[in-house]
Amino acid sequence: MRVRRSLAYRLEAALGSGRVQCDVPLAPFTTLKVGGSADLFYEACTADELAHAIRTARNMEVPHFLLGCGANVVVGDRGFRGLVIRNAATQIDIDRANYRIRAASGAIMYPDVILLAVDHGLSGLEHYVGIPSTVGGALWQNLHFLAPPPKRERTMFIEEVLLSADVLTESGRLQTVGAAYFDFGYDYSILHDCDDIVLSATFQLSPGHPERMREIMKANLEWRALRHPPLDSEPSVGSIFKKIHGIGAGRLIDECGLKGASIGGMVITHRHANIMVNTGGGRAADLQALIAYVQAVVHDRTGYALETEIDFVGDFAPPNPAKPVFLPRPPGLVTAEELARMRSRQV
Ligand SMILES: Cc1cc2nc3c(=O)[nH]c(=O)nc-3n(C[C@H](O)[C@H](O)[C@H](O)COP(=O)(O)OP(=O)(O)OC[C@H]3O[C@@H](n4cnc5c(N)ncnc54)[C@H](O)[C@@H]3O)c2cc1C
Repeated sequence: MRVRRSLAYRLEAALGSGRVQCDVPLAPFTTLKVGGSADLFYEACTADELAHAIRTARNMEVPHFLLGCGANVVVGDRGFRGLVIRNAATQIDIDRANYRIRAASGAIMYPDVILLAVDHGLSGLEHYVGIPSTVGGALWQNLHFLAPPPKRERTMFIEEVLLSADVLTESGRLQTVGAAYFDFGYDYSILHDCDDIVLSATFQLSPGHPERMREIMKANLEWRALRHPPLDSEPSVGSIFKKIHGIGAGRLIDECGLKGASIGGMVITHRHANIMVNTGGGRAADLQALIAYVQAVVHDRTGYALETEIDFVGDFAPPNPAKPVFLPRPPGLVTAEELARMRSRQV
């Protein structure tokens, strides 16, 4: 504890008096609402503060982790030994003449960045409505969603509208880079494999028809509401397992009859077989046990090896050894597939 305090004082000397907190629970800063405390915690409110905090942690050789919305991370129940830097750098500037938006990497994609773009008639970001993400997290992940209805013929990626980004490289240089630098793929950018930090991003948008953009947002929000449990009442970290091309991880899990499987406070939602929900009091140890159970059953029955697509951060307790139980399907729930079948019968 004394070591932690003295490290906090040294960090505060660089980052500002009263700016570094000790023993901060991380669960509230994640969408799954699990995880222990960070030994040390700092909120960066501008891109400069973010760069300075990362440099300071690197120079002092303090283990550190950058947290956005926490929508793609699971924090271990034993917390994080070191400094968690929460990205609260939210400045957004609009360049209407050139159809561009420049946002600090802690800016929230929806509603903040997307609604600003749409309100100014700028198109290109509206597809990602309803996805919890900072700008930095969106580049880390290459945020993606289906093309607009009625065709929904392909997956669209944030890389398509990324013009450039200001990056603090792992070697400590400040650099402006183009989209190619990120080597984007599905659920992938170079940020997975290096310690570069995105400080801000500039999106090149195009003039859009406000009515069409609002139509797309409405349709996408409806699509999501049917498939994704609402985050405020059913915390989750989105899809747990990576897409298996042409098959679908969720479909395999569903075919194995695993919807409703539950360990401790985690359950595979009946709404979507690739999403696990914290039913209250859930722990990372429950999630890990449920993940291992699903992987084993799916592999046994189908031969496919499911891989997780989420980031595990910090120190983990051993997985919960309890056997899974199956929770009944909530009365009145209609899944997206069932709704589609009902609609096609009506046509
Ligand atoms: C209900 C739900 C639905 C979802 N639906 C979708 C979807 O449709 N499409 C989709 O693509 N994703 C989806 N996701 C996943 C998630 O929204 C994305 O991965 C999102 O981009 C994560 O952003 P974040 O700010 O929360 O990042 P975090 O989860 O906070 O961080 C993720 C990783 O990015 C790193 N990182 C964050 N900021 C930076 C930065 N500035 N520089 C470098 N590294 C950084 C972190 O260190 C960490 O390793 C969904 C998640 C949920 C919970």
